[in-house]
Amino acid sequence: MAHGRTRLIVLGSTGSIGESTLAVVEHLRRTQTRDVEVVGLAAGRSSKLLAEQAARFGCRDLAIADEDAAADVRRRMPDARVRTGPDAAEQLVRDIECDTVMAAIVGVSGLPATLAAVELGRTVALANKETLVAAGSLVMPAVAAHGAELLPVDSEHAAVAQCLRGEPAERVRRVILTASGGPFRTASYEVIQDATPEQALVHPTWNMGPKITIDSATMVNKTLEVIEAHHLFGLPADKLAVLVHPQSVIHAMVEFFDGATIAQLAAPDMKGPIHAALCHPDRPPSCAKPLDWGATSGLSFEGPDHHRFPALGLARRAVEGGGDAGAVLNAANEAAVQAFLSHRVRMGQIFPLIESAMDAAPPRPIDDLGSVLEADRRAREHVAAGLERLTLAAQDRPRPQTPARLG
Ligand code: NDP
Repeated sequence: MAHGRTRLIVLGSTGSIGESTLAVVEHLRRTQTRDVEVVGLAAGRSSKLLAEQAARFGCRDLAIADEDAAADVRRRMPDARVRTGPDAAEQLVRDIECDTVMAAIVGVSGLPATLAAVELGRTVALANKETLVAAGSLVMPAVAAHGAELLPVDSEHAAVAQCLRGEPAERVRRVILTASGGPFRTASYEVIQDATPEQALVHPTWNMGPKITIDSATMVNKTLEVIEAHHLFGLPADKLAVLVHPQSVIHAMVEFFDGATIAQLAAPDMKGPIHAALCHPDRPPSCAKPLDWGATSGLSFEGPDHHRFPALGLARRAVEGGGDAGAVLNAANEAAVQAFLSHRVRMGQIFPLIESAMDAAPPRPIDDLGSVLEADRRAREHVAAGLERLTLAAQDRPRPQTPARLG
């Protein structure tokens, strides 16, 4: 093997990206492409899977947020060093020497550990988009200050990074992030408003964790990605566009001022961008599905519909508002998606809950992690109060004689 050993910590190893990362590691080892040693694994509560992964990769340094789950991991693996509690993943990053951290915890819970990896000057493969949405103006300067490297894993951003290789930002007219359109691309406004979690969890092209799948259904995912791209590539909101592309084959396009457009195409398989980040900047053979040109019957594009998917407009508002606007948007969305997944609100109520949290106060400056987490807390409290009002209003309403129509 031409390359030295890479010591890897996988944060969120039990999730969709985490499992795909470990599959990529196995491929790199099996094919003797890279010598990757898994030196740390972090999860939320999936104790059985975490213990299985630890045994499979001979990894003894673990973190698991849930304390009962930690007790179960210790029972299954008496010789492992198991950190637990809300700071467990950050502790793992700070305790263990490594070269690369895969940041794949879902939500803003992943921010402290990711920021710690940046502050330690690690190479960070970033799947956890909420980190940049909530705290991009904190994280990006820290990347520069600590000599860290941030490699985007989100497929659209990994694609933009590939299209931009060697091109200075002054040459870029526009970056276009593509969106599959999710399960409700062709659905009516009314159907989208009343959609159930079960309907929203069926994604047409990507197989992902539940939170990002709901974000794709509401298209909040694209809102988050525009904000993420703003921070990653230093582009203003008016240079960031979204185009619906149902086949999910083109992941992003960069238009240059001379009229040329460079696009990145690949099968919709997250093992591709994960492999690219772990092998950056080389391109050894990957285990991701290759693009099947024969089965790609046509590539189509349509503009996003802001009436049916109003959250798209919040990206510009958050980018231009700056400060903690992204943190508020992100936290309100996380809380609203949680309420939707627990059947407390309809899908159509997610957007008003986010917008109301953003309306509640003008953006405040972000000075440190504390101010991000404070904005996050305020936004969650605001959504909780909104949910309370919705519950009371529903109790006051006369009971319908026939079951309410859903979907
Ligand atoms: P999943 O829901 O599948 O996995 C989330 C992971 O985070 C799990 O390992 C979970 O552990 C862990 N986790 C949750 N809370 C904590 C916590 N407090 N401390 C430590 N670990 C925690 O999500 P995905 O893999 O789909 O997504 C992960 C991130 O990657 C998200 O930010 C998403 O937006 C982004 N992303 C995902 C893509 C995809 O294709 N899936 C594509 C592009 C970006 P446990 O299961 O044990 O509770």
